[in-house]
Amino acid sequence: MNYDVAIIGGGPAGMMAAIRAGELGARVLLLEKTNRLGTKLLITGKGRCNITNQTDSDREMIEAFGKNGKFLFSSLKKFGVDDVINFFETSGVKTKVERGARVFPESDQSRDVLDALLSNLKKCKVETKLDSVVKEIIVKENKIEKIKLFGGKEIVAEKYIIATGGKSYPGTGSTGDGYAWLAKIGHTINELSPALVPIIIKEKIVAELEGLSLKNVEISLYKDAKKIDSRFGEAIFTADGMSGPIIIDLSSVIGKHPNSKLKLSIDFKPALDFPTLDLRLQKDFTEQHKKTFKNSLNDLLPQKLIPVIIDLSGIDPEKKAGAITRDERKKILHLLKEFSLTVKALDSYDHAIITSGGVATGEVDPKTMQSKIISNLFLAGEILDVHGPTGGFNLQQCWSTGYTAGENVSEGNQGD
Ligand SMILES: Cc1cc2nc3c(=O)[nH]c(=O)nc-3n(C[C@H](O)[C@H](O)[C@H](O)COP(=O)(O)OP(=O)(O)OC[C@H]3O[C@@H](n4cnc5c(N)ncnc54)[C@H](O)[C@@H]3O)c2cc1C
Repeated sequence: MNYDVAIIGGGPAGMMAAIRAGELGARVLLLEKTNRLGTKLLITGKGRCNITNQTDSDREMIEAFGKNGKFLFSSLKKFGVDDVINFFETSGVKTKVERGARVFPESDQSRDVLDALLSNLKKCKVETKLDSVVKEIIVKENKIEKIKLFGGKEIVAEKYIIATGGKSYPGTGSTGDGYAWLAKIGHTINELSPALVPIIIKEKIVAELEGLSLKNVEISLYKDAKKIDSRFGEAIFTADGMSGPIIIDLSSVIGKHPNSKLKLSIDFKPALDFPTLDLRLQKDFTEQHKKTFKNSLNDLLPQKLIPVIIDLSGIDPEKKAGAITRDERKKILHLLKEFSLTVKALDSYDHAIITSGGVATGEVDPKTMQSKIISNLFLAGEILDVHGPTGGFNLQQCWSTGYTAGENVSEGNQGD
């Protein structure tokens, strides 16, 4: 059978494109490499799926995407934040808005988001082929003639959408296959790198803190002793570094300063300035003057942090709290307000939320998602060089570009 549209990649962008094209009457084939659709979608938002971000305006949404954000202007007009929420609500997924305008399913289950997409695919009569790995795209005279699957099968369609995602979390099927095909047929692939990713720290001491989760801390990023960014919120220590929301966001800034000497400075007590925290320490040490230093920090710090602070302070842990000197207190104060760590590297694609870089947006029509190089090719999702911060922005990009591609491949099918 010949299809109107063949879509490669059953992630959020490919599924949304298939739904829109099918809704408009196109005969759609959705090809997915793994044995199920939406594998990565299921692990988004720690299994809760942060489907979008309820920004106050499209402009605010576009700004969140940085310099390439303008590319999304038309697709957001076509299928924006309210449309996404409406799509899921009318498909039976009630939504809720959390801190930072992040929108989640009320059930906290990404499974419900995927089920809504699957039932829409069925309703729109989209044919899905799982375990179908596209190997090659055959182009003749600036047009895709057919695609070849591993195993020898060939697929022919009028139009094609590539939505194979990035290279991060390759276990989910996203291994960056699309970049190679597109480079081969003449598209520019802007430099790829893991982004929104944990940070590897040089100091071995982080291993002792593994699993320690920090709330309401401020972490600043320093380049050559100059502060270049600062974030407030949550973070967590890993075996070889740090992760968590503020770290993931800071990783984008770190990625822009390759080969630079970068340091993190953690303020464990941002609500208390130096003099106020000093008074608090004086009070604690006076009230607990008979206790040993190592037993006097329990009210102030999480258990896991105490031995590390004691060790770095160089103060005898058996010393009585009442005997701590002013200079020793200043050392403790400095460690609590300016806990310094050296950035060694960003973690790999295995742990990256997205892949930065991708198909140059100048080579794709933002109104239709049509390639400017191959006439019957459309692109959607993470494969494009348009990426946002955490908070639901990246899925919104997929819904908007997927919908737009699906609508435009179906031109001429409306009313069939
Ligand atoms: C841990 C994690 C948490 C995240 N949480 C959020 C969140 O809460 N909110 C948010 O907005 N974003 C989140 N993201 C980012 C978001 O998941 C991605 O932006 C999004 O999945 C990209 O969608 P996509 O459809 O472009 O590609 P993908 O989801 O990567 O899907 C591409 C599909 O193409 C298939 N494919 C690849 N090659 C071939 C081939 N050769 N033949 C056939 N099929 C192929 C793959 O198997 C895959 O299923 C998260 C990402 C990760 C890794």
